[in-house]
This record gives sequence, structure tokens and C-alpha cells, in this order.
Amino acid sequence: MKLLYANDTAGTYPDSWYKATASDSNAKQYRQVTGAHSFDVCVIGGGFTGLSAALTLAEQGISVCVLEAHRVGWGASGRNGGQLGSGFNRHEALTKTYGIKASQQYWTFCERAKQYVLDLARKHNIDIQYVPGIVNALHRPYSVSKLTQELDEFNNTHPGAALQALDKAALQDHVRSEQYHAGIFEETSGHLHPLNLALGIAEAASKAGATLFENSPATKIERLLTSSERFKVHTHSAQVVCNTVVCAMNGYLDSLVKEARTDVIPINNFIVATEPLGEDIKNLLPSNAAIADSRFVVNYFRRSADDRLLFGGGENYGYRFPKHYPEIVQRAMTSVFPSLQNARIDYAWGGTLGITRSRWPSVKQWQPGLYSSSGYSGHGVALANFCGHAVGNAIAGNTEDFNALNQLKTGYIPGNDFIRPWLCAAAMGSSALLDRLPSFGKQS
Ligand SMILES: Cc1cc2nc3c(=O)[nH]c(=O)nc-3n(C[C@H](O)[C@H](O)[C@H](O)COP(=O)(O)OP(=O)(O)OC[C@H]3O[C@@H](n4cnc5c(N)ncnc54)[C@H](O)[C@@H]3O)c2cc1C
Repeated sequence: MKLLYANDTAGTYPDSWYKATASDSNAKQYRQVTGAHSFDVCVIGGGFTGLSAALTLAEQGISVCVLEAHRVGWGASGRNGGQLGSGFNRHEALTKTYGIKASQQYWTFCERAKQYVLDLARKHNIDIQYVPGIVNALHRPYSVSKLTQELDEFNNTHPGAALQALDKAALQDHVRSEQYHAGIFEETSGHLHPLNLALGIAEAASKAGATLFENSPATKIERLLTSSERFKVHTHSAQVVCNTVVCAMNGYLDSLVKEARTDVIPINNFIVATEPLGEDIKNLLPSNAAIADSRFVVNYFRRSADDRLLFGGGENYGYRFPKHYPEIVQRAMTSVFPSLQNARIDYAWGGTLGITRSRWPSVKQWQPGLYSSSGYSGHGVALANFCGHAVGNAIAGNTEDFNALNQLKTGYIPGNDFIRPWLCAAAMGSSALLDRLPSFGKQS
């Protein structure tokens, strides 16, 4: 079974709120690839990673095509929570494991990644509907003086960081739920319409000279030993010879690049959108910042432009989404906001993302000319675009960011294609259990 086809209709965007509200609702269709083609670079996967890589290459005059199995932005890029964040909550653990220098470098990448996305949208006039502000809401009691001290230390050691501690009263300006005790405000983060972003980057890449193919799943990457080109990428109806391949399939990576399977594992995550809630949503989320909570299986939510609650949560680790996933997410939503018990759910959808053990992205060159970039571990709105851009630049000859990203340790995922999902389910499932233990975790 393939994640590419397990939960969706081929060639069709899921029925998400994003699809319903995309500014380019008659999204330009790109043709299916047929016959024999030759490009300098063949990118496999038309999400943020692949599209940003293609745009970067095309802007530098390099001939590039994108093979997308379904539609551009069809994967996680067009279905996520829209939070353009830094993933602050992982830095403490990262500092412990890898040291302060690595944590600082990663922080700088995250800050640059967010700015890269905002600049891209501005430059290409993409209607991303950006709203600034993300709050990390802490679901365990936490001493605010201790939090303030920790954040001061973080801000002093991480360039450009300006994280603010919120006590319970200050948190009410952002989220009104009895579930949360304190929070961390990230001013330089925010939320946006991810499908608009993906469609906009696709159009920019196409205008810059990239050739985009949809409904064109790559089935095999053949290494050529006797030709001047290094690779032949096969689809059911075409072959593309090229010098360089960029695998940008993230959670849908499957077995095209076997080496990458030990770096990145797929997980599924789900979102519901309520009916428009009018003034009620403004009372629940007064500042219009997006919220991500501190649970291992994170609840994340925000106001939509038409005053719905977009609420994400729940995870599973197999190929198929659980049948009742809308109810799972709705339960999480009403435990955060009991007043929404009777709110109608208008849209529910799921998607697949890639995570690594360290939660740092996997940005690799596996052999000369064979790149992959994936495993953004829930922070790909900023990082997938930035890493795709870095891979594009590396291929064009500017390797600085790629080399630094390539050094990030991702951690080895043991097992084989059959055992790995089970190992992952066991590891993630036991960590998720900790969310339910009242006394576990940071307290003070
Ligand atoms: C429900 C959900 C919520 C999320 N929320 C957030 C959030 O709020 N903030 C955040 O930063 N991140 C979030 N993420 C993660 C983020 O969306 C991803 O990290 C990011 O979109 C990855 O981009 P990508 O281009 O690497 O992968 P994708 O967008 O998944 O694109 C991969 C593409 O490759 C294509 N493909 C795969 N195999 C082949 C093949 N063989 N041939 C051709 N094409 C192929 C797929 O069709 C797909 O379109 C979320 C993810 C999900 C699923």
C-alpha cells in the first residue's frame, strides 16, 4: 500500500477549507508528463520543498522540471495548520542533546526560513492572508517567574529571539481556555493560507521557466552508467533524463530513495474546520494569534479568515487514516473549548508529514546528484520552503546553507519498511500516553 493513494482520490485536492477558499480556486492545471524529456534537474514532489527548489533553480537559469503525483500543493503543503513558526518548544531538548551552538544555528535557520516565506509571498504577490503571532500554550501548571527566567536566557543566547512569557491572565488575551496555565508568545511567527502559498510558488516557478507536470508520479530513479546524464526518472508514461534529482516527497517518500527511509518516518495528522462562529471565535481567540499547545500530540488551532475555528490534532502511524478521525479531533477541540460542543463541523481532512528522530530536518545528498529534503517534523511551512531553496542554491553552486543544514543530526530510524511503522507507533504511542498522565512533565 502507498500513502500516496491510501486516503485520497488520485489527482484531486482533499475537501479541506483550504480547497474551498483558495484564491486561485480554478487552480491552473499543469499537464501530465508523457514521452522522453531532458532537464538539468528533475524535482520529484510538488509541495513547498519541491516548488521552492524549482523556483530557485529556474530563477538562476537552470532547466528544471517538477513531477507531481497529483496536483501541486496536494500533499502536506496544501493541508497543514498554516502555522509559520520556529518550533521553539524543541530547543531546550536540542540544547541538552547537541549543545548550545547547534541550537543557536537551528534557531537562526528557523528565523530566516519564516522571513524567506514572507519575502517570497510579497515578491510574487501571493495572497497568503498572513496574521502575525503564535502562542505556545502550556497545559501543565508552570511557574511564570521560572518561565520568564528561562526565556530571558533563551533570548540572550539566540540571535533575534524575543520570546515573551505569558501568565494565566496575559494568556487570556490570546486564548480563553481553562486547559492552559501559561504561555510563550512568538511575535515573529504567525499563520497563513498554505494552499494559496503552494499554488503561488508553483505559478512563480512556472513563470520563472520551470516546467511543472501534474498527475505524474515517479516510479523509479535509474542511475545511468554510460550516458553523459546521471539519472533517468521513470513515470508510467514518460522518462526524464537529468543530471540531478531532488526528492521532495516528505511523508510520501515511500521507497524511491531507500537510504532516506532510515532518516524520515511518515505520520498522519488531522484538522477540522467549524462552521463560521462570528463573535464567539473572537472571544475564544481574541488576538487572532495561532495556538500550539505543549502536548506530545500537539493540539494546534487558529481563526480562519471567515471566522471559523481550524483545529488540528490527533495522530496515527499506519497507512490509513482512522475512519473516525473527525470525531477524535472534535473531542480534542471540545475539551479545549467546551462551549463549542454544538458547533457544526463543515470540513475535516487529514494529511501525512515526515518526522525525524531528532526533529531536525533531513537535508541530504545521498550520492552525487541525488538530493532529498524532508522530515521537517511539523514545522515545514517555514522549513520546507527554506530547505528546498537551500537545495536549489546548492545545485546552482552556492552550497553554504545546504552544507550547514546537511550537518544537522537527524537520528537513525531502525528496522525495515515493514517493521518501521510499528516501531514508530510503539515509540510515539507511548510518548503520547504521557499527555494523559496528570503529573508527568514540566511543573513547578
Ligand atoms: C495535518 C497537517 C498539519 C500540519 N501543520 C503544520 C503547521 O501548522 N506548521 C508547519 O510548519 N507544518 C505543518 N505541517 C507540516 C508541513 O505541512 C510539511 O512539513 C510541509 O508541507 C512539507 O512540504 P513538502 O513539500 O516537503 O511535502 P508535501 O507537501 O507533502 O509534498 C510532497 C509531494 O510529493 C508528491 N509525491 C510523493 N511521491 C511522489 C512520486 N513518487 N512522484 C511524484 N510526486 C510524488 C506528493 O503528491 C506531494 O504533493 C503539517 C502537516 C500536516 C499533514
